[in-house]
Amino acid sequence: SDHDLTYPESPDVMDWGQHYPAFIEQSGSASIENGSRSEDQDDVSPPKMSKQIEVADIGCGFGGLLFALAPKLPDTLILGLEIRTSVTEFVQEKAKALRSQNAATGLYNNISCIRANAMKFLPNFFHKAQLSKIFLCFPDPHFKARKHKQRIVSTSLNSEYAFVMKPGGRVYTITDVEDLHLWMVEHFEAHPSFERVKDDEVEGEVCVEVMKTETEEGKKVERNGGTKYVAIFRRLEDPPWP
Ligand code: SAM
Repeated sequence: SDHDLTYPESPDVMDWGQHYPAFIEQSGSASIENGSRSEDQDDVSPPKMSKQIEVADIGCGFGGLLFALAPKLPDTLILGLEIRTSVTEFVQEKAKALRSQNAATGLYNNISCIRANAMKFLPNFFHKAQLSKIFLCFPDPHFKARKHKQRIVSTSLNSEYAFVMKPGGRVYTITDVEDLHLWMVEHFEAHPSFERVKDDEVEGEVCVEVMKTETEEGKKVERNGGTKYVAIFRRLEDPPWP
């Protein structure tokens, strides 16, 4: 259950510094020196960040994708969203451990995980047009027709993904459930803000390889000899106002 989850009023009030301390903006110290920063502000405003999150892994589970992408995109902030408390804590602790093991290189400073229900209030975490990639890796299939409304892809959720994504950004999906694959393709293709990216354009793309081989579910499907269905969608430019 997610009744105990809290959401920031807007992305600006989130304390992202807790998640990415290496990316806290240093230049803000000038205002402290000249005394213009009030006591109040010290207490409530989160630190300014030198970068914004650009990649979100929705339903990140134990973080296989995050940990594999971190060194491949070292200058990009990547965030996992996961609804299970203990799983979220596992990912946070593992990120901290990897950071201290790699302190000399600074690797893994760019990943973190929050506990959130990604089906709710996504725009409270991300600004309009902030994200360049969203990953939906092996989402829960919710097989029964009456459970389809719990699927992480739907017309209304796709509008939320469209809102937080930059034009030209990409949604990456992978599943071993053919019916869910077809559902995701149908819903993204039907949405005016997205078009499917052709398979030959993504063949060998590093993110696709990571999704197939580094996610916990991807590994499980590999062991069981299952099929992995991949589909990628491009966030289109919004049409001009009439
Ligand atoms: N993406 C990982 C992978 O590929 O190995 C985990 C896949 S697992 C089948 C689905 C994950 O989504 C679970 O960890 C589950 O707790 C999480 N999840 C389900 N619904 C969610 C929601 N509404 N918001 C955030 N996470 C969710």
